[in-house]
Parts: sequence; structure tokens; C-alpha cells
Amino acid sequence: RNFTGSQKPGSKLSNENQNRQTDFSARRQKILQQRKSLPIASVEKRLVEEVRKHDILIIVGETGSGKTTQIPQFLFDAGFCHDGKVIGITQPRRVAAVTVAKRVSEECGVELGQKVGYSIRFDDATSSSTRIKYMTDGLLLREALLDPFLSKYCVIIVDEAHERTVHTDVLMGLLKNVQHARSNIVSDGQRSNSENTNVKSGMSLEKENGGQRGSFLRKHNNRKYAPLKLIIMSASLDAQVFSEYFGGAKAVHVQGRQFPVDIFYTRHSVADYLDASLITIFQIHLGEGPGDILVFLTGQEEIESIERLINERLKQLPESSQKLLTVSIFAALPSEQQMRVFAPAPSGFRKVILATNIAETSVTIPGIKYVVDPGFVKARTYDPSKGMESLVVVPTSKSQALQRSGRAGREGAGKCFRLYPESEFEKLEDSTKPEIKRCNLSNVILQLKALGVDDILGFDFIEKPSREAIIKSLEQLILLGALTDNGELSDPVGIQMAQLPLDPIYSKALILASQFNCLEEMLITVAMLSVESIFYAPRDKLEEARTAMKCFSSPEGDHLTLINVYRASNEFLEKRSMGMGNAKGEKALRKWCKENFINSRSLKHARDIHKQILGNVEQMGLQIASCGDDMLPYCRCLAASFFLNAAVKQPEGTYRALASGQVVQIHPSSVLFQQRPECIIFNELVQTNNKYIRNITRINYLWLTELAPQYFAVQN
Ligand code: ADP
Ligand code: MG
Repeated sequence: RNFTGSQKPGSKLSNENQNRQTDFSARRQKILQQRKSLPIASVEKRLVEEVRKHDILIIVGETGSGKTTQIPQFLFDAGFCHDGKVIGITQPRRVAAVTVAKRVSEECGVELGQKVGYSIRFDDATSSSTRIKYMTDGLLLREALLDPFLSKYCVIIVDEAHERTVHTDVLMGLLKNVQHARSNIVSDGQRSNSENTNVKSGMSLEKENGGQRGSFLRKHNNRKYAPLKLIIMSASLDAQVFSEYFGGAKAVHVQGRQFPVDIFYTRHSVADYLDASLITIFQIHLGEGPGDILVFLTGQEEIESIERLINERLKQLPESSQKLLTVSIFAALPSEQQMRVFAPAPSGFRKVILATNIAETSVTIPGIKYVVDPGFVKARTYDPSKGMESLVVVPTSKSQALQRSGRAGREGAGKCFRLYPESEFEKLEDSTKPEIKRCNLSNVILQLKALGVDDILGFDFIEKPSREAIIKSLEQLILLGALTDNGELSDPVGIQMAQLPLDPIYSKALILASQFNCLEEMLITVAMLSVESIFYAPRDKLEEARTAMKCFSSPEGDHLTLINVYRASNEFLEKRSMGMGNAKGEKALRKWCKENFINSRSLKHARDIHKQILGNVEQMGLQIASCGDDMLPYCRCLAASFFLNAAVKQPEGTYRALASGQVVQIHPSSVLFQQRPECIIFNELVQTNNKYIRNITRINYLWLTELAPQYFAVQN
């Protein structure tokens, strides 16, 4: 609509403008009221005082009390951001950083990316005027590589610390040192200058009076830094562990508001929790009073399949019962769709929110009265003796189950349906094991090395990973060429690998690909491997989906198949001369995806990631070439990159992973499921009842000794 024409007062357009303004101020009024009614609003003054008094503060408060959205605003209003300094808030999850930033920018009445912004891997919505910046914990770790003092921050809030993700744990160690260093520089920077001559590059995480600290100060001694305020926020009542780690730091508790929640269990164990969820959702919908339903699932695939099932079943109901609206929230959901979970359902409708454990504590969704909790979560596990990390669906802990049921009692009494017998609850672990105890550490170690932390075993972890896991990961980094045999960051490979925001094994693949003249292909590969399930096959259209997939499949394996999909989507857009990014192009692409049984959300995410890492490798000056129609160099490059994940066929048709000795099977979704080549590399291990491998390409056995002699010549 054209708004430029001159309009007389009282004319239709200016009335509309006025209406819009009234709408706008009504909405602002409502938001203001919501803010005022949050439990945390009444303690604003006290909290600000505590932050002024203490350099480290631990804030514990129930989910929904207003910690994440309000505290940064309190501090901003209290004048903490003088001299253009920034308040940084870290989140373990991308989705949380994005949705919370959007909400807070709305609360502040500013455009996202101005005063309030977010920054996550592959997506940055900040500007020089950003003062309240939400980001992932991993991203702040990366920022420390470029700015060891994190000098632009006046306050850093580590949110959701109870989640104990590996990045949160490492970040706390790092921040402890940055804070220490910043206050020391202000007080005795000059004096330290002459104390030490051992100059090293980068950030040194000092041991008290150790040699490294002097060099660190020496390098930066001309600058003065304001002290850094640190706030650790957690939804679990157990603040002790954080307080102790930060030398007896003060902890304050914020009262939450919690209404009673009735807990229901199943009488017997359920065979299929997706099926049981579906039944429960409809029992609530048809039998219970108004209120939205929140269902906890383990990942995108589950969410999308149950979403389809709900909508199919709805069609079979009489029209009066069809008023159920599904919305979902998970990490890979494009950010413009993430906000849909927060919008109230249309009048007369009930909303059912299908979420991963993002909805456990990270985001608070209003309107929920019913929680369906199958009792599972997808978690990383790592077996250091085998050097293999995998994603496994495991039972939640007791504290997770309690958090989940609590989501039903935020605004009034609620109900939680646990899809397991009560006796099972008693058997659950009390709390979840910190991730650092169950993941491959090579990523973290590479970053710490790049930050100048030489002694990984001596690093001040809040909870130390096992010695075995550290050593295994160091070994892996040496095998990948990121570290020298002495454990130092190699130049240039290690330095380049640390710059890329990817798992070391993928960073290495990109670097190698520039030598194999197939970087163009490898960029697509890495982007496509970074997202969950590109293909989808609805139960009722399995055959059609298989036929569609055949159009893309490559006899070499899944990697080339993924490249074919990506390139076909490019061609589709080019043919219609539509770029991605414009709404028309995206809509057309969604349609194309649907016709080809491709998950459009995943593909879009992969395209975004591709753009970002292309930018990264261009900046690094890597040679971007394509191997054209000859796929041999590309397949060889896969072997050279993923040799740690090579497997050979066993007589009975299973595979033996060479590095770990584990017996694994090709996942039925692989294009090589039928063919079963003699020797393969794979990218993912999924553990259900069986150990399945996914994303597989056939290779020649001899390539391994040729291209990875550092590993195979010795072993074999
Ligand atoms: P905490 O961090 O303590 O768990 P939050 O600051 O995330 O609490 O949430 C405070 C309140 O803000 C909640 O009651 C929630 O309902 C509301 N809220 C948060 N994000 C949104 C949003 N995007 N839309 C509507 N309400 C929201
Ligand atoms: Mg929060």
C-alpha cells in the first residue's frame, strides 16, 4: 500500500495509521504490565545493588521468574553500559538466544539488532549500537580468540549455568581468568611489565605468579580495562557448586511463582513413546478444559513426524473438535518461525507445542497448562577408549522431569503426564552429568590452545574431564595435524582450524579440500552435514519418498547425494532467477522441497550455514575450486578427512569401525544400505538398539594407508 499520498486528517489512511498506533501503544502497555507483574520486578533495586557490590554474583531463580529477559534491562537502566560497553548474556542454545533477544527488543520498543541484539554461529543480529547482546556460550568463547580481554563487555551473564554444557563450563574457567586479569591490569599493570620476559602470543590463562601471566600483561599493559562484572544464572536451586568454584561467591535467590501441578504416570511401560504421546495429546484435547499442551520430544525428526500424525488424525475428527494448532520449537528451526510458539492460539483453539528440551528452562512459553513428558532426551555420549562420540536418546534425570512438569504450573494449576510408570521415576539419576564428562573434547582443546592455554590437564575446570578423555582428544588433534607432536598449535593448519566455527574434523576437511581442488563440494558437504535429516519420508508416502530420493542418489554414497540435492536446489532457484532471501524464492523453494520429499527447514538452514563458512574460507584465502564431473578427488578427500571414521565390511554384512573396533550397521536411510561396499567412511553414529552409522561414502581401502599414513601405516 502506498503511504506517500497526501492525506487529509480524518481520511481512511490516517485513521488506519491512528489505529495502528493505538494497537501499538496498547501492546506496549500490555508488555509493560507483564513486565511489572513478573516476580523479579519487585527486587530490581536489590539485584542492581548486589551487582554493584559484588564482582561475581550467582542468581538462582525458577524458570519464568524473569531472569533472562529482565536482568539485562535492569543493569542497562542502572547505567552499567557507560562508555558504549556491552552487557553480554550467554545461552547454551541458539534458539534461546534468538527468541529472547527478539522478546527483549520488543519490550524495549527498539528494532532488533539495535540496542538489543543477538549473535549466534552463522547468524549475527548486532550492530555498533547494541548494548544488550544475547549469544551462545560457544560464540563468546570464539570472541575471546580475537579479544582476549573481552574488552567491550562491562557485564557478562552466563545464563542457564545449571545445564552445564561443555561450552558453559569452559567459559566459566575462562571468564574467571579474564576477570582476574582485567582487575589486575588496572591495579598493577605497569609494575608487572618488567617482571617477565617470557613473551607468548595470545591469551595466557595465568597460574598465580606463573610465567604466563607476566607475558600476558606485558603484551597489553598499555591499555586499561574496567573491571568485569560476572553473573552466573541458574534455574536449579543448587548454587553451591558455582559459589565454591568462584571462591565463595555470593548467591541470591529470586522467588518464583509456581502453582500446583498434578502428576500422572502410566500404569505400565509404553512400547512406543511417540504413539503414547499422540494418544495423550488427543485425550487432553478431547477430555480436558482449556489450556495449551507442551510436549517434550528429543529432536527435529520426532517433532516433525508427530506433527504430521497429529494433523492427519485431526482430519478424522468432527469439525468441532479440530481446533488444535501445532507449533514447534527446536534448534534448527529458521528463526522467523521460532516466534510462532509464543503467539497465543486463535480464539477457540488449543495450541500444542512440540519442543525439544529447549522448553525445559531456556524459554518460557505462556499459556501452558498441560505437559506431556515421555521422559527422554537426546544427549551426547563419548567413549574415550574408542574415541567415538554419538548422540543417544537417554532417560531424563529427576531434576529434568521436575523442570518439565513445572512448566504446567506457571500461570495456574496444571497437569503433567509422564509416559512411564512411577516406579521408573525413582530409578532416574538425580541430575544430568555435565556434558564435559561425556563428549569429545577436541573442539574445546583446540580453542583453549588457540587462546594460549598450554596445560590443558591443569586448566581450572569447574569439573575436570577424565584424563583419558583429554589425552584421547589431544591424540586426535595430533592425528588431524592441528597440534604438533609436542602438543602445540600447528602453523598454519592448527591456527586455521581454530578459526573455523566447526568441529575440528570438518575444519580439517575444508582445508584438505582446498588441496584436493574440491573445496566447492566440501563446503556443501559440511553445510549439509551440519543439519538434521535433509530427507523426510512420511509413513503413508514411503514409496513416493523413496522414488524421489532416487533422483538425487549417487552410487558413491550419501555425501554426493547431499551435494546433488543442494545443487538441484540451486538450479531450481537459478532457473526461476530467484535468489534465496527474497520471500518469493523461499516460498517456491519450499514447494519444490515438498514435491521432492526434502525437509525445507533443514535445507534452508544448510544454505545459511554454507553462506557463512564460504565467507570464512574466503577470508582465510583458501583456494575454492570444484572437481567438476570427476568425483574421484572428492571421494579421496573424504577418505583423507574422515579416516578416523573408516569401516570395513564383515562377512555377515555388518561393519567394523577401524579406529574403535565397534561393530556397526548401515542405517536404512543411507543410499548404500542395499549395496554394502567393502570399505566406507561415515560421519555419524546413532545408537538405538543397534549402532547405526549414517552419511556414508564408499572408499578404496588402499586410500587409507596412502592418505592417512600417520594413522594407518602404524596401526596396520
Ligand atoms: P527466566 O529466565 O527466569 O526463566 P524469562 O525472563 O525467560 O524467565 O521469562 C519471563 C517471562 O517473560 C515469562 O513469564 C514469559 O512468559 C515471558 N516471555 C518470555 N519470552 C516471551 C515471548 N517471546 N513472548 C511472550 N512472553 C515471553
Ligand atoms: Mg531464563
